[in-house]
Amino acid sequence: MEAVARQRQAKTVIWSVIFLGAACFAFSASRPSPALQDIHFWLLALITICIGPRCSVKIPRVKSQITISETFIFLSMLVFDGEAAILLATVEGFCTSLRISKKNLNHLFNASVLAVSYSLTVWTLRFLFGSIVTLPHSRNPAIFISAICVMSVMQYVGNSGLIALCVALRAGQPLWHTWRQNYLYTSLTYIAGASAAAIITKLVWAVGFYVVVATTPIIGIVYFTYYFYLKNAETQAKQVEQAQCHIEELSRHIAEQERISLELQQSKEHFRHAAFHDALTGLPNRALLTDHLKLAIERAKRRTDHYFAILFIDLDRFKNINDSLGHSTGDKLLIALARRVEECLRPIDTVARLGGDEFAILLDGLEDPDDAIRVAERIQLELTHPFNLSGNEVYTTASIGIALSTTGYEHPENLLRDADIAMYRAKENGKDRYELFDTIMHARAVALLQLENDLRRAIERHEFTVHYQPIIALDNDRLSGFEALVRWEHPERGLVFPSEFISLAEETGLITEIGQWVLRESCQQVRQWQRKAPMNRPLTLSVNLSSKQFTQRNLIEQVTLILEETDFDPRCLRLEITESVVMENAEKATTMLKQLRDLGVHLSIDDFGTGYSSLSYLHRFPVTTLKIDRSFISRMGAGDENLEIVRTIMTLGNNLGMDVIAEGVETKEQLAQLRALKCNYGQGYLFSRPINSELAEKFVLERAQGQTVISTLMDEPMLDETVLAQTTSVEYVN
Ligand code: C2E
Ligand code: CA
Ligand code: CA
Repeated sequence: MEAVARQRQAKTVIWSVIFLGAACFAFSASRPSPALQDIHFWLLALITICIGPRCSVKIPRVKSQITISETFIFLSMLVFDGEAAILLATVEGFCTSLRISKKNLNHLFNASVLAVSYSLTVWTLRFLFGSIVTLPHSRNPAIFISAICVMSVMQYVGNSGLIALCVALRAGQPLWHTWRQNYLYTSLTYIAGASAAAIITKLVWAVGFYVVVATTPIIGIVYFTYYFYLKNAETQAKQVEQAQCHIEELSRHIAEQERISLELQQSKEHFRHAAFHDALTGLPNRALLTDHLKLAIERAKRRTDHYFAILFIDLDRFKNINDSLGHSTGDKLLIALARRVEECLRPIDTVARLGGDEFAILLDGLEDPDDAIRVAERIQLELTHPFNLSGNEVYTTASIGIALSTTGYEHPENLLRDADIAMYRAKENGKDRYELFDTIMHARAVALLQLENDLRRAIERHEFTVHYQPIIALDNDRLSGFEALVRWEHPERGLVFPSEFISLAEETGLITEIGQWVLRESCQQVRQWQRKAPMNRPLTLSVNLSSKQFTQRNLIEQVTLILEETDFDPRCLRLEITESVVMENAEKATTMLKQLRDLGVHLSIDDFGTGYSSLSYLHRFPVTTLKIDRSFISRMGAGDENLEIVRTIMTLGNNLGMDVIAEGVETKEQLAQLRALKCNYGQGYLFSRPINSELAEKFVLERAQGQTVISTLMDEPMLDETVLAQTTSVEYVN
């Protein structure tokens, strides 16, 4: 808005100047001027108009031109009087403007400025000194000189003042500032012009008018010298400007370079956080630890008194914290732990986060291997204080495994692995403790790995076999059925018992395949015996089901399929599961058990009494049999409280309409006690050890002929240890 108003103001001034200029021009033209009849004037006018506009010099950095016209116009003023000078200046201004501008308004304005400024000069001179043309002839040279000074100053003030006024208005700058900045030193050209004009005037009067023609080349030379000087200055100014630009650009470039290199540095640093450091805790990661460990190994090789140790730390029950307080609290704990562990160490030690809640520490340059133990103890002591995490007091403990450089390993991984094994040992031994790695641990770990590989191969190579242990009905002393127990016929180690591989098979998931095989194999076998030796009550088969199998989705389909394939009566099958399997997920277990029961299969709770079954739950499960754990039977001496436990279980089973099987019956006393308690079934070494299918078949065929197990017991020393040793010799290997 302001700019528009300014432009309007500038326009008004411009038009006023044009109007004033036109008036001055008209007034001058109307006054009698003898010069117009003088050929010399026209000659001078011709020189002025032809040469003047062509000899204009642009002053560097300033929007103004210097022409040599001033000299000629001043000359015409001094020789041909004011009106001639005003008219000539106006025309010359118009012509010069034609050369330097394309706008008509500018031509009018430029011409008018000259008309007005020369009118001002002329009338000031006349006012101060009277007639102008007589001035060169004045006797007193001071008058002439003063007049020349006034002339140049007036012309300069009038001309530059009017132009500066318009420029200042347009640009919205103060007049004085614009004038001083752009036009101050053009005053020199006026003074020079006026002086030259004064000298030429004197010459004209002394020598004649044609001296003008003669001096023109001199003026030209002076002018061109000035012109080239200015050109040169302009070039220099341009060079300076260019140099300045260049410097600016260069400094910008340098700044940019600095910025880029800083960013590069930062991203390098970042890459180094990402490649060798853990993002959460800022600790070194496994890669960096391995690097440091390599160096430590090298040092230890060179110096025999140089020890180092690796501590492998794993928080106990960290998952609990994560699950109960949330992952962000878990993260905070890991960060706080990192800081606390750092405080327990020397600057040369390296603590790294390997992932999750696993940390490892490299203690380098130890004087005594026992120092490693002291550090582990210090860390465990530090952890007895709670962590304050966003208002929660969190307690945690850690299991620590220690591996020492004394093992002389070459590879960092081996040391880390040993420390890891020792840490697992600490967990096994009750957590919140440390264990020092020893060679027995190593052997154990190697053996376990070997076992796992062998176990995988065992399935492909059909190395499993089933042994059968008779279950005796205690009411009539007859063979009721068998429990199928898996054995592994290891090509090198001989017969391997379930206690050695079942938990590994469960951990690796191989148990589902093994379990299915056992079920199919034993169903087939017992079905065969049922056919060969039909009995009043067909033989039953008990098969163990691991917790892994129990949570298997297609268990029902699998069991159904095997029963169909082997043509086995579901009512003769008892699947044995432990209490914990049922209790861990009671809801799911109930549905699963119901589905199995719907197939007609009987369900048995194994090792009953050792788990945590809530008796109130028991009746909800469609379980038909309880197997009293061997530990109660073996300690069932007279007056022992175990007898009471067995009695209670028996009562409970009877009340719930369940059969009760006593496991691990080894002595005749136990048998007598169980019988007195009216226990339904018995299973144990007293009757028979688990035996291979061949022996079991013999057993079946003999009993089918009516022989009771108990009569055999009484008559022959069949279940004598020695006899058993012959029949099931392989079992004694163990
Ligand atoms: P379990 O189901 O409690 O099986 C009874 C275990 O007690 C058998 O050990 C058997 O040999 C042993 N035993 C039987 N009578 C006596 C006795 O009078 N005295 C003593 N001291 N022991 C007796 P085994 O065959 O070594 O099996 C151990 C465990 O391995 C089994 O305990 C069972 O939990 C598991 N198991 C065996 N076979 C399989 C299988 O095919 N699948 C699954 N999932 N587990 C199996
Ligand atoms: Ca069992
Ligand atoms: Ca058992």
